[in-house]
Amino acid sequence: MVTAYVALGANLGAAVATLKQACVSMNALPLCRVEKTSRLYKTAPLETLPGHAPGSDYINAVVEIQTTWPAPVLLQQLQQIEHSAGRQRPYINAPRTLDLDLLLYGSGSIDSANLTVPHPRMWQRAFVLVPLAEVAPGLVDAWRLQAVQSQAINMLDDRL
Ligand code: AMP
Repeated sequence: MVTAYVALGANLGAAVATLKQACVSMNALPLCRVEKTSRLYKTAPLETLPGHAPGSDYINAVVEIQTTWPAPVLLQQLQQIEHSAGRQRPYINAPRTLDLDLLLYGSGSIDSANLTVPHPRMWQRAFVLVPLAEVAPGLVDAWRLQAVQSQAINMLDDRL
């Protein structure tokens, strides 16, 4: 079994319900079990393409999973769950019904054409680090959280 961490995000449609369903779907995958879930957080969109509206606030969370899938297969399964939630990619950083990012896969480093682990932008994002620190405090040093503290993030009174 490998311990992996997945970031969930959505800012289109019924985002809270979509994230909860995605968590159920991950737990229902064969050879995969959701061990820990963070609370839900609300954050403003960070990256917007010129000429495009920023879109609604995001709902974010992180889960810890145990799996025996190799990381590339796990990514395919996550993309299938995104697809089931109606995910489309009209342009880069477009609003999304569901985004699932594989943050960490055991202690492994992967750098292939379609998978980079640890996720290359995870350390710059409060919406990843704050919920990750909740489920795995030992993985996020205090200085990492301090580095993103200017990014507003609101904890909701709800969880996955
Ligand atoms: P996004 O539009 O943010 O969902 O990005 C999805 C693309 O990023 C896909 O083409 C993935 O193959 C690629 N990708 C690379 N590394 C990762 C990762 N660690 N987690 C999720 N997607 C990844």
